[in-house]
Amino acid sequence: MSSKKTVIVYQRALKPDLREKLEREYNVLDFSQTPNLTQDAEFKKALSQAHALIGSSVTLPAELLDQAPHLEVVSSISVGVDNYDIDYLSKRGIVLCHTPDVLTETTADTAFLLILASARRAVEMAEMVRKGDWTGGIAEPHFGVDVQGKTLGIIGMGRIGAAIARRGKFGFNMSVSYHNRSRHEDFERELGADWKALDDLLRDSDFVCVTVPLSEATRHMFGKREFELMGENTIFVNIARGGVVDEPAMIDALQNGTIRAAGLDVFDIEPLPGDSPLAHMDNVVALPHIGSATHETRYAMAELAVDNALAVLRGEKPRAPYNWDALDR
Ligand code: NAP
Repeated sequence: MSSKKTVIVYQRALKPDLREKLEREYNVLDFSQTPNLTQDAEFKKALSQAHALIGSSVTLPAELLDQAPHLEVVSSISVGVDNYDIDYLSKRGIVLCHTPDVLTETTADTAFLLILASARRAVEMAEMVRKGDWTGGIAEPHFGVDVQGKTLGIIGMGRIGAAIARRGKFGFNMSVSYHNRSRHEDFERELGADWKALDDLLRDSDFVCVTVPLSEATRHMFGKREFELMGENTIFVNIARGGVVDEPAMIDALQNGTIRAAGLDVFDIEPLPGDSPLAHMDNVVALPHIGSATHETRYAMAELAVDNALAVLRGEKPRAPYNWDALDR
């Protein structure tokens, strides 16, 4: 058996230069194309020799990682860490790394794409042209609503929330409110943003944009009551995680006109099943979780994930550890 440490790459293939960077020092096993990864016998076997895991979008339960006694680092190619049992990793002294910052602007672009597309009914109108149903001048039944000058409510004013707020404030002259557990006075100064209690923000915003991490505190944060507070003119945008929304309640709210429309990049079940009403409603713009999905940003995320893993394997502090202070050393 090789004396080199082993790195497993899963779910996301690495570009050749990044793979070579790992291969210079480590033995690399590639499971990026393996379907049903957590059930795969070869993957389970490989875990027994793994020192690092690099990948994303798969929940890796504790029982599975118990089979990886040498594991030093799990390096996620994502900023969100809701797929990982953080307490378990910390207790075992395994460093969990993620990829903040490098995806912030691209994900904020996706949020703004959803804001504009939902407000101007871009997908519905484009579909009309595509079907050959554009037969006359566009009149009131097909009008959208303005974005510029409206009120933008951000729930989760962190890196991505602030980048969305900048686009709204400086690009579209919107007034910005936000809700976090703690106030961020730097964003308040920069963006002239008001902190509001959640209910007040939902009541007062024309656009409600969700950018909180999925956690036990945020799971199903938006249900029937919250959609009723938003009201019939509100457009709801979720680029965070599907789990922050009670999806059946959102579908009801969209079908009943409780809210105007939704722009969604994330869903309870992904890929979104083709028979979900969300895939077929005119007042929904549904994207297949493309928040960070550009060539440049996905490369930058993979590069950071590789560098994070390499740092830990060399005994150094990585650029973006998530559980550094919680680690049981
Ligand atoms: P971040 O900088 O940590 O921002 C998250 C913000 O949410 C923080 O300001 C935090 O402030 C607030 N927050 C956390 N829990 C809250 C709660 N219970 N109630 C109210 N506010 C809460 O993270 P980020 O880099 O902006 O990323 C945010 C999330 O976006 C990620 O976790 C990920 O799930 C999602 N994301 C999605 C995509 C996509 O492809 N669609 C791409 C990238 C990221 P306080 O701590 O003060 O509450």
